[in-house]
Amino acid sequence: MLEFPIYMDNNATTPMDPRVLEAMLPFFTKYFGNASSRTHSFGWEADAAVEYAREQVAYLINAEPQEIVFTSGATEADNLALKGIFEMYQSKGNHIITVKSEHKAVLDSCIHLEKMDADITYLDLKNDGLIDTEELENAINAGTILISVMYANNETGVIQPIKEIAAIAKKNGVLFFSDATQAVGKIPVDVIKDGIDLMSFSAHKMYGPKGAGALYVRRKNPRVRMAAQMDGGGHERGMRSGTLNVPGIVGFGKACELARIEMKKDGERMCKMRNKLEAELLKTGRAFINGNTEHRLPNVSNMSFKNVNGVDLISLLNKNIALSSGSACTSGTNEPSYVLKAMGLTDEIARSSLRFGLGRFTTEEEIEYTIEQLSIL
Ligand SMILES: *Cc1c(COP(=O)(O)O)cnc(C)c1O
Repeated sequence: MLEFPIYMDNNATTPMDPRVLEAMLPFFTKYFGNASSRTHSFGWEADAAVEYAREQVAYLINAEPQEIVFTSGATEADNLALKGIFEMYQSKGNHIITVKSEHKAVLDSCIHLEKMDADITYLDLKNDGLIDTEELENAINAGTILISVMYANNETGVIQPIKEIAAIAKKNGVLFFSDATQAVGKIPVDVIKDGIDLMSFSAHKMYGPKGAGALYVRRKNPRVRMAAQMDGGGHERGMRSGTLNVPGIVGFGKACELARIEMKKDGERMCKMRNKLEAELLKTGRAFINGNTEHRLPNVSNMSFKNVNGVDLISLLNKNIALSSGSACTSGTNEPSYVLKAMGLTDEIARSSLRFGLGRFTTEEEIEYTIEQLSIL
């Protein structure tokens, strides 16, 4: 039976998996200790749970547990990576390369750094949402300290050529940071094989709780150094002070474990439904897909509809289907998506686009209903 409204916005956030909630619950009440308390069992139990979660998180991305810095989410991890690297490597240079389609947490951190004399290059996108790696390589200069390119885009699902970018960074002795919030848990992400030096991700985009995330910081080949952005008790090996969110971290760990086991099956199921949705909507002759369809997450579709205003469309549908036209952070405004615009779409077409974010709990019936509703428009 269909239950309304249908949730089709899993890129904004995902519902928590009940198995994650179950893992977290004891850490609110019975095991409430401060993970930094060294003198009694309350602290030791909390600390053991955090360290177990650190292993679960690290294992999913093929990192070492000591390379995981827990944060409040990907926004904080993005800020920490960009500002922490800029501060630490200033003597080497002040140039950072990023892309116009990055998440606001990256772009706004870059704007902040520009006020502190950072020189930022914003790469364009090709029409399919991929960056031009030649343009990237040409942008590198003697003062370049960091390349920041997201793994997969939150509006289109387009996956950037991460290995190629990493190789360019390595060849030029530049660090490579990737916001992988939409990719981790959806597709295999391996910081060693991918050649990533720093990487941000977040629990609530992968069926974990809100308020927990991580920054991966490479410890060897090369050893990345980073200036803390939060002063205090020196938690997380000095890189992120603040009492650890033990229940959140436990849930994050469980979510990573589930993703590792179920990613393949989930991905295939969502991909099939996503492809069906697209095939049916394309049949109307009024819809087209935005972004490269080969290098794309299995659960995302971004489509434009000719002669339809996306905002009207969403308000028409939103009693029954929860959708957005772009990222949650900007969908409150009437502004067309800057990601789609960077791909060369006009304001008008960008305004008439919808982002479908399928998830672990999306059903065939929900897809059928969505197709029905959009086909009669
Ligand atoms: C959601 C998202 C973020 C922000 O993550 P929070 O954990 O909500 O702060 C950053 N980057 C991308 C690509 C995202 O999708």
